[in-house]
Order: sequence, then C-alpha cells, then structure tokens
Amino acid sequence: MSDCIFCKIIDGSIPSVKLYEDDQVLAFFDISQVTKGHTLVIPKDHHESIYELPEKVATHLFSVIPNIANALKRTFEPTGLNLLNNNGKDAGQTVFHYHIHLIPRYGEPGLHG
Ligand code: 5GP
Ligand code: ZN
Repeated sequence: MSDCIFCKIIDGSIPSVKLYEDDQVLAFFDISQVTKGHTLVIPKDHHESIYELPEKVATHLFSVIPNIANALKRTFEPTGLNLLNNNGKDAGQTVFHYHIHLIPRYGEPGLHG
C-alpha cells in the first residue's frame, strides 16, 4: 500500500529502529514510546486489521512474539508487559496496517488496582 506508513517502514523509505526482522514479520520501536521499549510487531504483508489477517500470517506473527518479549525483558528489565491490538478507529486504531503493541511496564499499578 503506497500510502501506508508501516509499508513505508518495511520498504525502508521511512526510518525505524528495528528489533526483529524475518521474511514475514518486522518489530520496531513505536515512535511515541508509551513506556521505555514500546514496540510494534507487524506482518510485512499489508492487512488492515485482525478481520483480514490470514491464519498463516497470524500464526507466524504470534510465534515470534515470545522471543521479542524476552529480548525486551532482557534489555529493559520491565516488571510487566502488555500486548495490545486496536482494530478499527472506534477501538483507537490510527494506522491501518495490522500491528500488535508490546508495552513494557515498570512498577505501575495494574489495570485492576
Ligand atoms: P494504533 O493507534 O493504530 O494502535 O497504533 C499506531 C502506532 O503507530 C502509534 O502508537 C504511533 O505512535 C505509531 N506510529 C505512527 N507513525 C509512526 C512512525 O512513523 N514510526 C513509528 N515507529 N511508529 C509510528
Ligand atoms: Zn501497510
């Protein structure tokens, strides 16, 4: 998709700080770090949201997340980690290329107090 920011990150026309890359998946730091180490994991094929994501793409994408999570844990030593995926603008999606946020947490109160 020529007008997609994340496709441009994949093709290198927009720079990013990459943590992990293979032939199907890219992980890079979010430009606005909610917390230190905030990372986005994306498929290299353009799919808008979870509703369009082929099972094979989802399977591979999720299979690499534990390794990325462990790399973040080793590097930043967070005390917790949230995975977040927004689908549709009413759910807060702003970039319409499927992505999963990995948000390390550092001793902050949990969602349930
Ligand atoms: P969403 O709100 O769609 O779930 O998340 C999109 C994320 O993409 C946001 O957290 C935003 O900071 C990030 N983002 C938007 N543009 C860029 C960019 O050019 N580079 C990087 N690294 N992240 C971006
Ligand atoms: Zn895209």
